Order: sequence, then structure tokens, then C-alpha cells
Amino acid sequence: MELYNLTIHELHEKLQKKEITSLQLTEAFLKRIEAVDGKIKAYITVTKEDSIKQAKEADKRLASGKDITPLTGVPISVKDIFCTNGVRTTCASKILNNFVPPYDAAVIKKLKDAGAVILGKNNMDEFAMGSSTENSAYFVTKNPWDVERVPGGSSGGSAASVAAGECTASIGTDTGGSIRQPASCCGIVGLKPTYGRVSRYGMIAFASSLDQAGPMTKDVTDCAIMMNTMAGYDPQDSTSIDAPVPDYTKALTKDVKGLKIGIPKEYFIKGLDSDVEKAVKDAIEVLKKQGASVVDISLPHTDYAIAVYYLVATAEASSNLARFDGVKFGHRAKDSKNLLDMYCKTRDEGFGPEVKRRIMLGTYSLSAGYYDAYYKKASQVRTLIKRDFEEVFKKCGVILTPTAPTPAFKIGEKTADPLTMYLSDIFTISCNLAGIPGLSLPCGFTKDNLPIGLQILGKPLDEETVLKTAYSYEQATEWHKKRAGVEN
Ligand code: GLN
Repeated sequence: MELYNLTIHELHEKLQKKEITSLQLTEAFLKRIEAVDGKIKAYITVTKEDSIKQAKEADKRLASGKDITPLTGVPISVKDIFCTNGVRTTCASKILNNFVPPYDAAVIKKLKDAGAVILGKNNMDEFAMGSSTENSAYFVTKNPWDVERVPGGSSGGSAASVAAGECTASIGTDTGGSIRQPASCCGIVGLKPTYGRVSRYGMIAFASSLDQAGPMTKDVTDCAIMMNTMAGYDPQDSTSIDAPVPDYTKALTKDVKGLKIGIPKEYFIKGLDSDVEKAVKDAIEVLKKQGASVVDISLPHTDYAIAVYYLVATAEASSNLARFDGVKFGHRAKDSKNLLDMYCKTRDEGFGPEVKRRIMLGTYSLSAGYYDAYYKKASQVRTLIKRDFEEVFKKCGVILTPTAPTPAFKIGEKTADPLTMYLSDIFTISCNLAGIPGLSLPCGFTKDNLPIGLQILGKPLDEETVLKTAYSYEQATEWHKKRAGVEN
């Protein structure tokens, strides 16, 4: 297989055996990006010089034989929502077109410390608001399996860069499905960890009570490897959980004997694509054969999830995005008459239509007189959704569902109707509202050769059982070995 199609663990072995250097590998990826990114458009910024410098450092570390991690010398990409010291960070918005952070986000620092080489910053929906990467202020990323289709979103550039072999792995963020849905659309593995498991420090905020960073990888083993580096307590993030980080690779056993898998009836509904439904049901059979048992469950408040999400997330976004006013950083409008005029012009020029829509929705639901009816009510129903999961997890260890109701849709298909677009996340949003971990992995292809994602939800801080279930299924199937085959 071509180097650009290999996983972290495969490349780690080659680096350790000195079959290849990190510099050679990094140069190969830079060449690959040059060859295919014109077609895929997964990167907003490619950090060529920095990555070569990091690769040389990694080679020294590998030569010394000391302090080597499975990521040392391995080229990855990162969503353009993570602050990177000295490297432009746009969040795919015009308002941050010229923003160069003076520090690294906590996860970026951890990845760099582990010796990973960062190739560049991936395209996304502006401020992570979207499900197709069509809301980027710069350009649309294409799905490597069919360039007429979206890669999903908002971490669409990250997912596409992994699927197209423009990096080994990537990191994304997930507020309502933005890691799992693009992973599903692009045929890769994506994990949204438990809320608080990974530090949010230096990750540009969309909805702070829901946002969580996680790995996007070619297989489950790589996902566990990335988690070992990314997870952990961080005093710089007040919602970070102070719990020990297990070695996630130890969970990669195929032992699902006795595991109870919950199948929620609310996730197998009208509108679910028939190929998707079949693939997910087949996946359940695979796990049954391996010794897991199935219990039918109900998550009765599922119907309210989208409504609750679009009140809570927009309220938090309207508050978080107030900081972009042209004063301290980012774009500032020219020729303003006074301060207020400068604020208004800056925000009008800097934000795209979806971001403006969310700010208006959120400001409305938080305003005096409406707060009780909207934001407060939504927070209460959110608690009911969380309780649904608490109840169900008394009966099962994990929950299996489709990740998205359909495979990747056509570019432009849903842009005219925001509500239809919002429904793309119908199966992923409850997980964020409840704060639990959720993983998507490939479980088949449609008749048109589009990837299908299987979602595994777990108990809070029980990423290990989620990974174990995913690994067990993956090792019994061949889906993770398929590549999109984007030609040089
Ligand atoms: N698609 C959802 C939205 O538009 C979720 C986005 C996300 O997870 N960042 O808000």
C-alpha cells in the first residue's frame, strides 16, 4: 500500500525500524497534498516549513531512541478551529482571516509534545456551524469518495484529508455531531469523547457546554493511540474532568462476550436510508456472533433533541461570538463613523449567513421575556434527555445506532433549507446534550459506493467499552481497509 494510505500504527513501525524517516514521510505527504488538494480542498493552510522542521526534530528523537511515542514523526492535520502558535487560525471565517494566535491549544501542545508533525489546518464550516463544510467562508471541501458530494461537517476538511490520504490522521471538534457525521460520510473512524475528557483550552468556542475535541482516524487502533495523547485533565479548562487517563490501546481486545448492546427504537425511523439501515442491522449481527447480546431500549425524549440543541447551542454561540467585534483581534471594518458603527460593520462583513442566523436565534432565546420559555425550558428538557441515557445504561453497556440517516449528500442539495440540513445530525446530537462518548466507524457502503457509519454510544468516561466494541466489529470486517482511491 502507498505510504499515504497507511495508519499511525503501521507508520510507527516503519519509523521505528528505520525503513523511513519522518522527513521523507512528511515530504511525501506534502507532495500528496500538492497533487490532490486542488480536487479535494481539505486544507485552508498547509504549514510546509513548520512541518519539515517538526519532522527533523522527530527524526532526532527517533534516532536517540528516547521518549518515542506512537505519534513521533507521524504527519497529521488539525481542524482550523484549534489555535496554533504563529500559524493563521481562521475557524473558516472571514472575521478571523488574519488571526495568528500567540499560543497553542492544549491538544495541539500535547500532539506536538508527543512528536506528531502537523501538516496544516483543515477546512470546516464557519465556527463549526454546519453539517457539510459548505458554510466555510473560503471554499467547499469535496468528499473523496465522490467529489460531487459533501464530506459532512463541520469537521469536513479533517475527515476528507484522512480519507484522501492527505495526512495519517486528524483532529476535529464535535458540538452536535461534527466529528462523527463527517467520519461517517468519509468512511473513517471518529470519536467524540466524554464532555470534559479532552481540554477545550485554545479551541475556538461554539457552544461551550457541548464542544469536545476528538480524533479522526483510519482505524480504531489509531483512534485509541490519539486518545492516549489527547485526553487528560487541564486546569486551564474549568470543565475538564480530573480523572486518570487509561491506556486506551489496552481496550483493543475483541472480547465482547456478555456485552449488552442497546438498540433504541427511536433511531430506526422513517427517512432512514434503506442501505444504511441494512448495514447497521448487519453490524449488530456481527457483534452478536462474537458473543454480545442485544436489548431493545427506548430513549423517549429523542424527538426533542434537535429543538433543544438549536436553543442551547445558539444561545451559547451568541454569547461566545460576542468577542469578535473588531477590537482585540481579527478583521476590523474600515471607515466607520463611530465605535458602534465599527462593531456593526465588522460583524456584518466578517460573519457568514449561517453564523448570523445562529447569533440571532441565540440572542432571541436569551432575551428578557423569552428566556424562561426557550433557553430555560430547553435546559430542562436537556436534563430529561440525559436521564434517558442514565436509565438505559442500567440495562446495557453500549448503544448502537446509525451515525447519520443518509450517506453523504450532493453539494448544494440542502443549502437552501437550513432545517433539512439540521436533520443530518438527528442521531448524533443527543450524545452531546448528555455529555457521553460516541464513536462512528465504517460499517459498509451503499449501492453507489458511499461509506456508511455505525455509531457506538457509551457511558460517561467509558470510552474503553466503546473502543472495545468498535475494535471487535472492525477486526471481523474489511471496511476499514478500503480507501477512497483519490488519484495523484
Ligand atoms: N451540524 C451541527 C450544527 O450545525 C453540529 C455542528 C458541530 O458539531 N460543530 O450545529
